[in-house]
Amino acid sequence: MKETGNISIHTENIFPIIKKFLYSDHEIFLRELVSNAVDATQKIKRLSSIGEFNGELGELKVQVSFDKDKKTITISDNGIGMTAEEIKKYINQIAFSGATEFVEKYKDQGDDKGIIGHFGLGFYSAFMVAKEVEIISKSYQDGSEAARWICDGSTEYSIASAKKKTRGTDIILHIAEDSEEFLEEYRLKSILEKYGKFLPMPIEFQEKIINNPSPIWTKSPSDLTDEDYLQFYDELYPMQEKPLFWIHLNVDYPFNLTGILYFPKVKNEMQLQREKIQLYSRQVFITDEVKDIVPEFLMLLHGVIDSPDIPLNVSRSFLQADSNVKKINSYITKKVADKLAELFKADRAAFEEKFANIGLFIKYGMISDEKFMEKAKDFCLVQDTAGKYFTLDEYAEEVQAAQTDKDGNKVYLYTTDEQQQDAFIQSATQKGYSVIRLDSLIDSHFIQAMEAKLEKTQWKRVDADRIEKLIDTGINLEAILSETQKESVKKVFEETLNDKQKVVSVEAMSPDELPAIVTQNEFMRRMSEMSKNGGGGGMSMFGAMPTTYNITVNANHPLISKLAELTSEDEQKALAKQISDLALLSQNLLTGADLTAFIKRTIAKQ
Ligand code: ADP
Repeated sequence: MKETGNISIHTENIFPIIKKFLYSDHEIFLRELVSNAVDATQKIKRLSSIGEFNGELGELKVQVSFDKDKKTITISDNGIGMTAEEIKKYINQIAFSGATEFVEKYKDQGDDKGIIGHFGLGFYSAFMVAKEVEIISKSYQDGSEAARWICDGSTEYSIASAKKKTRGTDIILHIAEDSEEFLEEYRLKSILEKYGKFLPMPIEFQEKIINNPSPIWTKSPSDLTDEDYLQFYDELYPMQEKPLFWIHLNVDYPFNLTGILYFPKVKNEMQLQREKIQLYSRQVFITDEVKDIVPEFLMLLHGVIDSPDIPLNVSRSFLQADSNVKKINSYITKKVADKLAELFKADRAAFEEKFANIGLFIKYGMISDEKFMEKAKDFCLVQDTAGKYFTLDEYAEEVQAAQTDKDGNKVYLYTTDEQQQDAFIQSATQKGYSVIRLDSLIDSHFIQAMEAKLEKTQWKRVDADRIEKLIDTGINLEAILSETQKESVKKVFEETLNDKQKVVSVEAMSPDELPAIVTQNEFMRRMSEMSKNGGGGGMSMFGAMPTTYNITVNANHPLISKLAELTSEDEQKALAKQISDLALLSQNLLTGADLTAFIKRTIAKQ
């Protein structure tokens, strides 16, 4: 028997189009063909289990081999096989219609950027790398004759009987000149390992099984130990630090999804590594760019997600709008929040210990996801400078009495740098106030979100103003200096500071405080920080804003009284300069030539 035929399609030149579209992703031909082979073996297994196939199953597996001289790659399986009729039906009609549909859909799109790049084009993706494809197949059905189909990538094919004795299918690719890179052992092995690492049937290459057909996410959590989870983590990310904990995802309605998400140790933003969660569809690796499937803040997690319900053959924008993807998003968010709540409740001390590593992640979630915020506000912690942790409710309670200002606002004081802001922290703690540590880049966004969330609560960095102003209880200290003296002191300071970015004011502070302090307005500083590290809701106009410092002169400090009484203007200026330099120095703000001049001056006085 030999028969030739025409594959009926509208586009004569389907292959150049396929090639063009898939240009960057040629390697997925192997994923497609191996997946088909795995499907075929799974089908025969199923037929056998329901009694529709009573022959020997044998050792079911898929074999991949190559021949550098003949320039072929062969994918063989001992699965269900196809009769000549089935090849005509499944390959010529079904497979081809999928390819035609694809091309119809995308041929008008000028570039391939809109296409996700991973879309299960199926059998015909073989033509991305092959100039000719052969199928030799023998069906499992009793007495069926083996068939050989061959097609050179035009719309013509031929089909004839073949000699194959054993059940299953060999797909033989005659590799095109421009794709000979795939005839390398290393290349084939790495593609197989990338896409097929967890395929559900053994995959053999160079006489070795390259995959783990039953990864733990397919198993029931009750059958697994911590050791299993840690081992699997190591399999996914060899040589990495152990994760803190993990969540086993398992849902079958209204969508199907399994997976394991691990919480890595994230100490600071520099460590944020994206593209760490791997997306699978029925154990076939699809991508590690899970941007639209996993909520942005959860991309800090590691692990795998497996869902046949995530559409792979559509553009990004469609994916974002897809209702399954949305449901998956909120499901994962909920699971993660529940897990964190559970850990917090079960063992608070252990949770506090981990907080340094998961705080960043929790805050990120709270900022970006309203639903997560609702749950996380009960287990998000703040830590004071003594190292004690509080939940937000506990902290509100803690500072309520002492830190409520005259307008009824609770004022939370925080430090971003305990060393640099030490003088201010001391002023605050002397007054019996609490100061919390907020030292990651995300904190300015976090504070902004929390102020919007918590009523009548203001967050102020401890050096944003003098302490009496930060928490204004309405009780003002009397100034020793008269108004005219204050005016003249202010002028002396202004004259010594030729820098326009420094604003001077003379105010009554406690005599125990320094003679002058340097502060930075909370709002201005926060805006400029937020625009610097991105986001901030269109606040980038503040980005170019120079930082302004306020110099507050302590009208009640003995040194300032002394300055006011000096008769020589030069002596007044010299003292003012020394006082403001000391204030700058205490905050690490005296640098360069100013610092050198200060040191020389001070040495000269000894
Ligand atoms: P899809 O796998 O998405 O259905 P393909 O184009 O990859 O589309 O394949 C079309 C059909 O050809 C499959 O559904 C299957 O019936 C058949 N087929 C492909 N490869 C094999 C194989 N190795 N063994 C048996 N049948 C196969």
